[in-house]
Parts: sequence; C-alpha cells; structure tokens
Amino acid sequence: MVGKSDFINGFKVPGALGAPLIAKYITSISLFILPIAIVKYAIKGNYLLSGYFVVLSAVMAFDLWAHLKSRRLPINATMVLIAVHIGDLMLVANHGISSAFWAFPITIAGFFFSAHWVALVLGVAVAVLEVAVSYWAAQDFWFSFRLGMALITTILFMRYTLVTIGRLQAQLTDTLNYDALTGCRNRRAFMAMEQKGGLGSGGVVLFVDIDHFKEINDRYGHFVGDDILRNVAGLMREVLHGEGLLFRIGGEEFAIVLLKMPEDMGMRVAERIRQVISDAAMPEEARVTVSIGVEIYRAHGDLGAALRRADDHLYRAKQAGRNQVMNSRHTLHRP
Ligand code: GH3
Ligand code: MG
Ligand code: MG
Repeated sequence: MVGKSDFINGFKVPGALGAPLIAKYITSISLFILPIAIVKYAIKGNYLLSGYFVVLSAVMAFDLWAHLKSRRLPINATMVLIAVHIGDLMLVANHGISSAFWAFPITIAGFFFSAHWVALVLGVAVAVLEVAVSYWAAQDFWFSFRLGMALITTILFMRYTLVTIGRLQAQLTDTLNYDALTGCRNRRAFMAMEQKGGLGSGGVVLFVDIDHFKEINDRYGHFVGDDILRNVAGLMREVLHGEGLLFRIGGEEFAIVLLKMPEDMGMRVAERIRQVISDAAMPEEARVTVSIGVEIYRAHGDLGAALRRADDHLYRAKQAGRNQVMNSRHTLHRP
C-alpha cells in the first residue's frame, strides 16, 4: 500500500521526508514480513488466516508495482490499511494478545497512507476494536486497558507531530515566497506563478520602478532607502486595497498582477499609484516618484513575456522623463 500523494496534513512535505517514500519503505517491509506469517499460520493449520495474508500481500505488491510504474494506486491505500488492521485483529482473536503489538506500527503507517482525519478516525476505531478483541481473547482487563491507552497516546503523538510539521512547512513557504523588507511576494513567488502557466483569467501586469533610487540612496543613505522602499510598497498596497498581487521582483522594482482587469482600468490603477507615491510624504522629505509600464496578459498566456513587454514600456517611460505611466499605445501624465 503506497501513499496517495506528497501531502501530509494538507501540506506538501519535501523529498527526503516525503510520504510516498516512507510509504514505499513500509509497504516493502510488509511484503517481507507477510510471507513469514503466511508460512507460520499454514503450518499451524490456520488456512483462512494464511490465505488472507496471501491475498493481502498480492494486493500490496500490485499497488506498489503500479505506483512505481505510473504513480497510480489501483487499490485505495486506506482500504488496504483497513484490511491490514482486520488481519491483525484476526491474529489477536486466533493466536492471542501478543499479536496486538502490531497495531502500533499499522496505526502509525495510517498517517502516511491516508488523509490526516481518516488516520485519526481509523486509529481510534482500531484502538477500541483492539481493546474489545484482546479482552475477548484473554479476559485480562488491565492488559486491554493499557493497550487502548498506549494506542490512543500513539495517535496523539502522531497528530502533534504532523500538525507541527504542517505549521513549520507553512512558515517555510512564507519565508520562501515573501520579501523580508517590504512584506511583498518575492521574485521566486512570481516565477512559481509564471511556471504554473500564469493565471487562468488573464488581466493586466504593471512593472513599477522607483525613479533615481540610486541617487536617493547616495543622498540619504541605505537605511532611509529601505524605509522608502517599505513606504512605497505600503502605498501600493493601500491603492490596491486587497485587489491584485504585489511582488518585489528586484531591488526597487515591483510587479503588480491585476486579475481579470481590462487594460484601461489597469492604466487607471497605475496612474493612481504613480500619483499617490509622488504626493506622499517620505522620510527626510525625499522626493520619490515611480515610472510604470502596463501590459495585458491573456488567459493561460505567458505572464513572463507580458512582464518583459511591460518592462519595455517602463523603459520608454524612463526615457520620456520618468514619473509617468506607459503602455503600448500611450503615456499618462507627462511631467
Ligand atoms: P532609474 O530611474 O533609471 O530606475 O534609476 P535608479 O537609480 O532607480 O536605477 P538603478 O538601477 O541605477 O539603481 C537602483 C538602486 O537601487 C541601486 C541599489 O543600490 C538600490 N537598491 C536595490 N535594492 C535595495 C535595497 O534593498 N535597499 C536600498 N536602500 N537600496 C536598494
Ligand atoms: Mg529605478
Ligand atoms: Mg531598476
């Protein structure tokens, strides 16, 4: 039985920790252990149990083969896991409570094969059944009680571990995709979006570049420059009002992706951004302006190519005197 996806607790787990990898190991180990059980119970004359494990091994081998070949899972992993649990319960019922310890690795394996909540529900259900069946088999209340408690504790530890991994993963994703200085999405996030084939809807992309920023740095120092970058990003966020995606793609360069927006509206947003920034009070009363290139991108089109065209318009805006918005046809505001 091989894990369905790379996801643990809804978060993508990176390579080495990957659920499919662990799932493959668990399945392979199971395929070594099961033949021992098949032979052992056949010798003991329990052909039902022996036959059950033959079928289980065949199903697991088939799933593993299909997954290695085409990353497909013909037989649902959770179903196989339930069948393994049933096998263990049959062992406890037929051959005594010493087989109950298998419930621990099988319960833990559940968290690598099934969705988190499925593993939780299944784990608790199996704990209750293991208590009932072991009590039925041995009539030892305290053994069954401790078995149940130990299984529930194991489930709680697994849950805590996976929630922690999920939280760390979310933090890591934020660190990777957001710029520490301005809080904007970064170039990596832009490239990831580009690679995904852009955005289904199409819209407008703005390339915003602060004018003569080098001079601002030279005059007021880098720390004031940093404050200005933060201010400019904050002002753009205010104008965007939650609409669109703001990226810092270079030192003093930003890209804005406005989803499902026609070009003339994109031009108006760009003009508003230009105006708000040129009117804003900045640290050290520095005069800060931006030039903006505006370009449309088509649904499922090449967002990167649209940004390069927006950069061409930006270049012309710079040539024409800066502090202005330009698209392929015309310029807004000539200083
Ligand atoms: P233009 O109007 O043609 O865009 O001129 P410019 O001076 O803005 O452009 P140029 O590319 O020559 O300079 C960009 C400057 O941005 C140079 C670099 O020191 C500064 N810069 C880049 N990243 C940061 C940063 O994180 N903080 C600060 N303070 N400055 C930065
Ligand atoms: Mg600049
Ligand atoms: Mg620049």
